[in-house]
Amino acid sequence: MEIISNNAFRVLGLSVNSNEKDIVSRYDELLALNKIGKVPAFSNDFEWISKPDRSEESLRKAFHILQTPERKIEHMIFWFWEHDEIDKTAISSLSNAHINQAIEIWKQAMDCDENGSISYLKNLATLSFINSLKEFEDNADYAFTIMEVSFEYWGNLNNDKKFWESIGKQMSFHHKPPRLKEELEEYILTTLHKNACPFIKNSLKTDLYNASKYLEFLEESKFSQDKKREVILNFFEPYIEKIESELEKSKKERLSSPENSFFWGNRIKEETKKSLEIINSLLLDEDEISVVINDKIADELFLCAVSYANNTNEWGKAKSLLITAKCFAQGLLLRERIQENIKVLEKRIEDSKIYDLCWFCNKVNGQEENVRKSPMYRTTRIEGSKVFYYTVSVEVPRCKYCKKSHKAERLLVNGFTIIGLVLGIFIGYSVEPQGGFLIGGFFGALIGFGIGYEFGREKDIKSESKVEDFPPIRKLSLEGWKLGKKPPSE
Ligand SMILES: [Zn+2]
Repeated sequence: MEIISNNAFRVLGLSVNSNEKDIVSRYDELLALNKIGKVPAFSNDFEWISKPDRSEESLRKAFHILQTPERKIEHMIFWFWEHDEIDKTAISSLSNAHINQAIEIWKQAMDCDENGSISYLKNLATLSFINSLKEFEDNADYAFTIMEVSFEYWGNLNNDKKFWESIGKQMSFHHKPPRLKEELEEYILTTLHKNACPFIKNSLKTDLYNASKYLEFLEESKFSQDKKREVILNFFEPYIEKIESELEKSKKERLSSPENSFFWGNRIKEETKKSLEIINSLLLDEDEISVVINDKIADELFLCAVSYANNTNEWGKAKSLLITAKCFAQGLLLRERIQENIKVLEKRIEDSKIYDLCWFCNKVNGQEENVRKSPMYRTTRIEGSKVFYYTVSVEVPRCKYCKKSHKAERLLVNGFTIIGLVLGIFIGYSVEPQGGFLIGGFFGALIGFGIGYEFGREKDIKSESKVEDFPPIRKLSLEGWKLGKKPPSE
């Protein structure tokens, strides 16, 4: 509370009504005394605030301030005003450290006479400001209660024509008013806020209660809306900056090593947690400050997820990042964009299941060496007897066990078909020697194939001939591809 403890009027032991002559002669007097090591005390030192600093440097500073009109007005605003006998009485109570007595005198004077001097309210405002800051050392909760009163008093002053008329009178001694009303309003509010800030930050270490109370009474005080907004923005700035620097770090890492984006995305969540909690708990959900910063986090998480997915094919982990991003996102467009990408990843996860699991038993993962290769072709054009075609080989994931089973199945099918064929020819020939073996062979082979298929096939395992149902093969079939190595017509 520099503006109080080193207030220029206090340091020089002057009342705010002092004229130029008083100021110069007091300054010269104090400088001379200072040189011989004598430091006098004055009735308005109010040592219960602190001992005033009357070193040469401090005296020079104070004098310089009072020679600079725009600074002088600031120091006047934050010091006690002595407009009438009531002020004099109350101030002498303050000199004796009877603070509550002074408060009572000014309060009563205000209650008795609505048209009384504006100095009563002004002095009460100054006193509550000092008291709240002093109280913070002992009882923070109580200090916030006094600060609420202080903001109310200062807001009322700001809203009072008499206050500004009084200030105007002070400034009218100069050819050109040194400060605009608007500037002074901002000065008052930021001074109050700056002094409160360290204590609010301190209170945030335990809970958010006092900070939220502070924002509430700041919001209710009678200062103009845009000035209050500036102060609130200023309060959240360090938290916003902390979050933004984390986002910046993540962006850099994501661009240089996209395969680590999953790590960086999760780090953002952890590193911004505290700052974001403060922002989100103290501001309304729809507050612009909160919306903007939440969207920024969501956006970076989104980019981390996309870059991770594209570089690693780890769809599941990327999806979990997107779901986190969605929790942060406030803007409708961003939410939609994230949702769309979640859907894309879900589709990929479904697809990748097809490729991981053995398609024939659906129980264990397939292995590369057991894959069932299914060649396919597609005819492009035919010129005379020449057929032009494309080929492709579709790999159907298969496990070791299914591969073995398919081998046995093939063996049995082939074996029984041959036995059936031979038996059919034999029986056909003996029943009807002329041509009977053709019909016998055909049916024999068919029956043999059926028996082989039935015995060779294992339950719960899809037969090798069912590859046509494998989704990627079915999809190709719909596009005109056929199973086999080459067109039969060649
Ligand atoms: Zn299998």
